[in-house]
Amino acid sequence: MSVKSNYLQEFQYLMPTKIIFKPGALSELSTLKIQMGKKPFVVTGKYSSKMNGALEKVMEVFPNAVVFDDVEENPSTETCDRAGQLCRDSQCDWLIGIGGGSPLDVSKVVAGLATNEGKCEHYFGRDLFYNPPLPILAIPTTAGTGSEVTPYAVITNTRSNTKQTIADSKIFPEIALLDPTLTLTLPHRITLSTGLDALSQSMEGLVSKKANPVSDCLAQESCKLIFKWLPKVLAQPNDMEGRYWLLYASLLSGIVIAQTGTTLVHALGYYYTLNYNVPHGIANALFLIPMFKRNIVFLPEKLRFIIDFLEEEYDREHPEMSIKKALLRFFKNIDFPHTADSWGVLDNQLKLFAKHLSSDSYRFRNQYGEFSMDEIYSIFRESFET
Ligand code: NAP
Repeated sequence: MSVKSNYLQEFQYLMPTKIIFKPGALSELSTLKIQMGKKPFVVTGKYSSKMNGALEKVMEVFPNAVVFDDVEENPSTETCDRAGQLCRDSQCDWLIGIGGGSPLDVSKVVAGLATNEGKCEHYFGRDLFYNPPLPILAIPTTAGTGSEVTPYAVITNTRSNTKQTIADSKIFPEIALLDPTLTLTLPHRITLSTGLDALSQSMEGLVSKKANPVSDCLAQESCKLIFKWLPKVLAQPNDMEGRYWLLYASLLSGIVIAQTGTTLVHALGYYYTLNYNVPHGIANALFLIPMFKRNIVFLPEKLRFIIDFLEEEYDREHPEMSIKKALLRFFKNIDFPHTADSWGVLDNQLKLFAKHLSSDSYRFRNQYGEFSMDEIYSIFRESFET
């Protein structure tokens, strides 16, 4: 049964981050006159920001910065605590996050831990930082998470082996500096994974119970840009125009989920990331067909543009088949193996995952429809289907 359009709804829209989007911006960092305190604490990953020169450019402008360069993928609570301690000990008074979603998220947690008592795990939940966190300059180097414009930090709680979120409007970065030239060094696999992450975020934003007219507009645009440019950039990694639009689409996807949150696609994907090390964006993409076959039943008219844009026939009686065909066409176009076993996932724990997910009501808060444990199990199973 379809749900009513929510265009007469009341809504609020908070996006306090100043966005500077400029190819080559990092090379001209000194001219931007960004100064949010006396001593910055830089949070970055282990290698990429050194290899592509991003860290060096930041250090040239802020030579007194203290650097924490030990952020892993799917960063842990321990990493956040270590970085938080170093930031406090070195008395830094603002943050610079450089890298993919992982370092940007850690920079947000550190910003909060620097001014609040306790450890990372105490802040999972919503709006739990009491004192204002330190201000953050976020410099994304992947085109996928939009973390530079969201109030979330997604962290692996090693105690429970789950990915959990700190959501706090006080950790929106103060400035997001987006320089698409920084994404030119992304290898094929990460371009694919992060592009699919941005697509998942925008598609999920469209079907979230918290969607509103502004987020819908941005989400549609983001989806179209990814459908258009991801195939081109995967074929031509130095396509600067394509890199520009993919980073822009990722930015839009972040502005969208900052309002709408994510839905079951993300909740399902976490099991494959945590148990089989499937990259975050790939793990989400494995569930796009199983979930959007279901989502389109609730919101057929809203999702129709995807089918039209991907030049698939719209079957009014069976829109679920149309969206499946459209997404399959796109996946073929980007050469994405869309079955879970292609990414090393085994099917012997799916019942366990389904049981665990079904018992976590938080994961269903933005999702239309009722999902029994058997239905969740079917969705996991369908991620193996060709
Ligand atoms: P990532 O985990 O930050 O980085 C993935 C890999 O890409 C790392 O090996 C990294 O190397 C490398 N890399 C980054 N930039 C590069 C560049 N320009 N050139 C070459 N290699 C580069 O990946 P991500 O997909 O951007 O972030 C995923 C994380 O963000 C997940 O934990 C996810 O849950 C979270 N997330 C957060 C939000 C939010 O709103 N806060 C939204 C979506 C997802 P180094 O480690 O050496 O840097």
